[in-house]
Amino acid sequence: MSLKDHLLARIAQDGPMSVADYMAECLLHPTHGYYTTRDPLGAQGDFITAPEISQMFGELIGLSLAQSWLDQGHPDHFVLAELGPGRGTLMADMLRATARVPGFLDAAEVVLVEASPALRDIQAQTLKEFKPRWIDSAADLPEAPLFLVANEFFDALPIRQFLRDGNGWRERLIGLEGDALAWGLGPQGEQVALKDRLDDTRDGELVELCAAAIPIITVVAGRIGTHGGAGLIVDYGDWHSLGDTFQALQTHERTDPLALPGQADLTAHVDFEPLALATRAAGCAHSRLTPQGVFLERLGIATRAQALAAPLGGSELEALVAAHRRLTHPEEMGNLFKVLGLYPTPSSPPPGLEP
Ligand code: SAH
Repeated sequence: MSLKDHLLARIAQDGPMSVADYMAECLLHPTHGYYTTRDPLGAQGDFITAPEISQMFGELIGLSLAQSWLDQGHPDHFVLAELGPGRGTLMADMLRATARVPGFLDAAEVVLVEASPALRDIQAQTLKEFKPRWIDSAADLPEAPLFLVANEFFDALPIRQFLRDGNGWRERLIGLEGDALAWGLGPQGEQVALKDRLDDTRDGELVELCAAAIPIITVVAGRIGTHGGAGLIVDYGDWHSLGDTFQALQTHERTDPLALPGQADLTAHVDFEPLALATRAAGCAHSRLTPQGVFLERLGIATRAQALAAPLGGSELEALVAAHRRLTHPEEMGNLFKVLGLYPTPSSPPPGLEP
């Protein structure tokens, strides 16, 4: 049975489903899910991420975390973790760059939170010399100092969408029209989680909620607040969610999210505000939201690019210049992507970020 047939049967039996249920089925269905069955990244795939664009991204992130480790008295055992490591490229670049920081790798236990068996296999290849350990959920992160990165992880978590209707909300749902998937709206009702949003929205406006993000960020912030460490959450999005940001990407083009379930990447912009609030509630400090371009410039990406450029010429040099621009320029990824830093209250934020 194809994923589409499975979804049609499920809706026929249970009624229309939320965007969150649809995303979860499409991305992580055990046999048909988008992430569970393939490597979606890179030029041949459906989308490309910062670490796949240039090694500079992972190197600078690694050095930012290693500097935080030094600033916090270089604990002799800590967990170096990544949420949703994709191909393992970011972690590999972090480990290569931080090998020069005395003691860092000896103290590190590499832990990867990954739901996809297909991607775990690729990560095992990329990272075999570092003997990583995989866990299914952030809840299983060890009780130890935690230095963590997540790039384009939170945007893959299921969201629900609500349309403002008077002083209540109607949920956007996916139902059936014949044998096709079709958009619809649930009944008007109150939503406790959206109480505050009645103040800053108008009739007919749409807001998104990502409930799945909260327990994850709470665990990460709890570990950092209790044992020390630092977290760098990098994703596209902003401080406040407003409007429909649910999107599907296939072979680098936007497509209709309902057209080919399980065969396109589904994401939504990350609303960093609830992540920051949950961080504070868990007893951990967070930085101001910083654009990716600013973060990388502060960490010295221009100097690193010059060093990498020195032996290059022709098309290799052009590719490096283009990669630097793509990661940092405000009209490319520089502004759309943001960094939220997590750190324990008496320390300062990881380099590249301000309190
Ligand atoms: N960070 C990588 C990959 C981003 S794609 C990069 O920057 O290139 C999203 C990653 O998150 C994939 O590895 C995907 O399998 C993983 N993922 C998505 N939802 C997940 C979940 N609920 N739990 C664990 N991993 C998840």
